Amino acid sequence: MEFGWTEEQDALRARLKAFLAANLPDDWETTASLSPGSQAVTDFSKVFCPKLAEEGLLASHWPREHGGNGATAWDHFVIGEVLWEAGEPRGPQYYNVNWIGPTILAYGSEEQKALHLSRMLKGDVIWCQGFSEPSGGSDLGGIRTKAEKTEEDGNRYLVNGQKIWTSYARLAEFCFLVAKTGPARRDVSVFLLPMDRPGITVRPIASVVGDGDLHEVFFDDVEVFEHERLGAEGKGWEVIRYSLDYERVGIPRYALALRTLNRAVAELQDEDCFVPEAELAAATALTACEAARMLVYETVDKRMRGRPDTGSASMARYAVVCAERAVADFVLDWTPHLFTSNDAPMVATHHKRAIAAGLAAGAAEIQLNLVARDVLGLGV
Ligand SMILES: Cc1cc2nc3c(=O)[nH]c(=O)nc-3n(C[C@H](O)[C@H](O)[C@H](O)COP(=O)(O)OP(=O)(O)OC[C@H]3O[C@@H](n4cnc5c(N)ncnc54)[C@H](O)[C@@H]3O)c2cc1C
Repeated sequence: MEFGWTEEQDALRARLKAFLAANLPDDWETTASLSPGSQAVTDFSKVFCPKLAEEGLLASHWPREHGGNGATAWDHFVIGEVLWEAGEPRGPQYYNVNWIGPTILAYGSEEQKALHLSRMLKGDVIWCQGFSEPSGGSDLGGIRTKAEKTEEDGNRYLVNGQKIWTSYARLAEFCFLVAKTGPARRDVSVFLLPMDRPGITVRPIASVVGDGDLHEVFFDDVEVFEHERLGAEGKGWEVIRYSLDYERVGIPRYALALRTLNRAVAELQDEDCFVPEAELAAATALTACEAARMLVYETVDKRMRGRPDTGSASMARYAVVCAERAVADFVLDWTPHLFTSNDAPMVATHHKRAIAAGLAAGAAEIQLNLVARDVLGLGV
């Protein structure tokens, strides 16, 4: 087994770090400590992502015919680790390159690929994801939002219902929307819906993750057309599963958790307070971060070999959540003053991210259910 990076991947990491040094403003850490859905981070992402695209680093892992440069999923992870560790200057646009783009690549028509992938590659389009509803979060089969074909025009659906916890909805141009298109629980379809359609109302929800992140979205006779449906009608469940597997390992949260841990340890060392009990706690948190990294790498490896990765994506996601929580506990126990310090704005928001990570992309308990079903073969 070879765990090392190639020379090219080391060079890619170094190149990207130099790019960040040249392109992140001096007060970037303060901006990054706001939520990715804040106006400031979103605005910055629209400046940063086009520059990243010019360097060929925004979606390098996409096929050449769709604007990539033939890089591997590993290269995409190198890029993700460096950017996430730096506070994710792609802002909400990490959605696009990590999972919405790949899902459109897998299931989209040529027209959908041409329209959406080219916009994502320009680095200035924001998407949101409309899955969760008051009646269906963990139980996604329980959603009630309907897309019903109109009688007068067979190419047109009308969407009615409500989504909740929709990140970035206020600033999004498009929604990756799941809606029921038939009576059975799993009779759902995915639509690539422009957010400026009449009948859509977006209301922000105040939350721990910060201003601008979470929303309720209401649909009142919203038109969506057949050519905007992703994949076959009623086959949305497969599309969602594909997308969620990418989403669950798409964010290398362990990289930022490790940076937070190192910052807290450095603080203790500076103050001459790195006592044996703190060393033990730091080692525990470090081990959780490294375990998460390895499980994420296993999923990427399986994906590269074309092997199913649903169970391992859930296992990796759970490990990532544990790593974030372990680091949050360490900071809380040993350097709680960093939570309110102006010197370490990104550390100060770590515990909020740790809380959110255990729910977003499917609650931690749901990941364990999926591990029981897909890895252990238990009938959950
Ligand atoms: C920061 C953040 C961003 C989000 N962004 C989006 C977004 O952009 N788009 C979107 O669609 N959704 C988004 N979500 C919503 C997220 O996907 C849901 O919160 C999550 O799926 C849980 O659903 P729920 O909130 O309805 O909780 P519930 O499903 O009501 O679950 C509540 C609790 O019960 C537990 N539970 C439920 N069922 C089971 C079970 N079968 N076995 C064991 N335990 C169970 C859960 O683990 C959880 O702890 C976001 C959430 C957060 C926190």
